[in-house]
Amino acid sequence: MRSDAACAHPAPTDEVIGLCQDLLRIDTTNTGDNDTSVGERRAAEYVAEKLAEVGIDSVLYESAPRRANLVARIPGADRTRPGLLVHGHLDVVPAEADEWSVHPFSGELRDGYLWGRGAIDMKDFDAMTLAVVRHWQRSGIRPPRDVVLAFTADEEAGSEYGAHFLVEHHPDLFAGCTEGIGEVGGFSYSVNENQRLYLIETAQKGIDWLRLHARGRPGHGSMVHDDNAVTALAAAVARVGQHRFPVVVTDTVRAFLLEVSEALGIELDPDDPETAIGKLGPIANLVGATIRNTANPTRLAAGYKDNVIPGRASATIDCRSLPGQSELLEQQLRGLVGPDIEIEYLQRQPALETTFDGALVEAISAALRAEDPGARPVPYMLSGGTDAKAFTRLGIRCFGFAPLRLPADLNFSALFHGIDERVPVDGLQFGVRVLDRFLRNC
Ligand SMILES: [Zn+2]
Repeated sequence: MRSDAACAHPAPTDEVIGLCQDLLRIDTTNTGDNDTSVGERRAAEYVAEKLAEVGIDSVLYESAPRRANLVARIPGADRTRPGLLVHGHLDVVPAEADEWSVHPFSGELRDGYLWGRGAIDMKDFDAMTLAVVRHWQRSGIRPPRDVVLAFTADEEAGSEYGAHFLVEHHPDLFAGCTEGIGEVGGFSYSVNENQRLYLIETAQKGIDWLRLHARGRPGHGSMVHDDNAVTALAAAVARVGQHRFPVVVTDTVRAFLLEVSEALGIELDPDDPETAIGKLGPIANLVGATIRNTANPTRLAAGYKDNVIPGRASATIDCRSLPGQSELLEQQLRGLVGPDIEIEYLQRQPALETTFDGALVEAISAALRAEDPGARPVPYMLSGGTDAKAFTRLGIRCFGFAPLRLPADLNFSALFHGIDERVPVDGLQFGVRVLDRFLRNC
C-alpha cells in the first residue's frame, strides 16, 4: 500500500494537461499598462504553489504592484558545473473573446487541442517545465547541473517589468548560468511523413522602436501654409514605410537555408535568399523578415482641432535590425527621413546570434531524435525578440528551444498572438518527453 501510494503520482505527460489548462485559465493579459496588467501575480503564485507541493522553493519578485516574476534553483548533481537557465514568460497578449471559437481563457480541451490565449506563447512550455521538475522531485531525480527556472512577467511589452527587471535588480539569481533555453524554437515543420525539421532559434533580430518628430509653424487651417508638421511627418513616414532595406545574409540564415535545402531536396541559393524563402511554404512567414532590416510605421499622432495646423506631429516606427546592423539602420533611417525630422529611440535592444554547435546543441538534437527518429534540428533566426535579450546581458548563451511536435497541416506561426490559439495535446506530451530527456543530459 505504502509503496503504491508513493508511486501514485501522475505521469508528467498526463499532468502537463491540467497544469497547462490551469495556467490558460488565469488571465495574464499584458496590456502594456501596469494598471490593467494584473494577472501575472496570480499565475506566479500558482507556479510557486505547484513547485512548493513537491518541495521546490521559489521566490517571487514584484517589479511593480502585481507584476510578478518567480525564480527557483534546482541543485544539480555536479554543482561545480555552470548552470542552465530555463525561462518562460507568464503574460499573454490580449484576446478579443467574440473573435474566438472558445473563450480565450477557458483552457478548453477540444479535438485533441488545448485552446486559449498563451497555448503556444507560452504557457505550454511553462506547463511542460513544471510537469518535468515535479516529476523529478517526486522521483528523486537530479539534473546533472544546476537548473534555474525563471517564470517572467511583461515579455509581451518588452520585458521591462520581467526579465530586464530581474537582470538589473537580481542578477545573483542567475549566478553561474552560462546557457539558457526558452521560446521561440524547438517546434516541428513536416517535410514528409518520415522527416520533420525542428527549428532551433540561435539568433534573433534587434528591437529598434523609435518615434519620428516633425515640427512646423502652427497656424489657421484656412490659410496658405508651407511649414506644416503633419505634411512633413506624413512624407517621412511614407518614405520609411515604402522603403525596402537591402538583403543581408547572416551566418544563421545561410546555415538555415543550406540545411533546409538538403532536407527538402530543393535548390535554395543562400545568395538569393528572397527567391529561396519564397519556396518555403508556411515557414516563409517565420523567416521572411530575417534577411533585411525592417521599419514599419505603427502609430501616428498630431493635431487637436480640425481647423488648426498643429506645431508638431509624431509617428512610431517599429524597426527590427539584423545582428550588428542597428547603427547602420539608424543611418539608413536618417537618410530616409531627412535632416528636419527628429528621431527618438523608445527601445533599443540588440540582435542576438550564436552558433549552432557545442554540447548543448548536441543534447538538444539527441533528445529530439530519441523521441522522433525523423527529427532534423536546424538553426534559424527569429524576426521578433524574447526574454533572451535580457538574459544575454548576463553573458548567458540563449537558445529558443521549447520542444513541440506539430501536425503537418497546422499553420503554427499564424497562431502566435492569433485567434483560436491552441496547442495539440500529443505535441505537448511530446514536448514533456523531449524536455525531460534533454534536461537530464544537458
Ligand atoms: Zn512569447
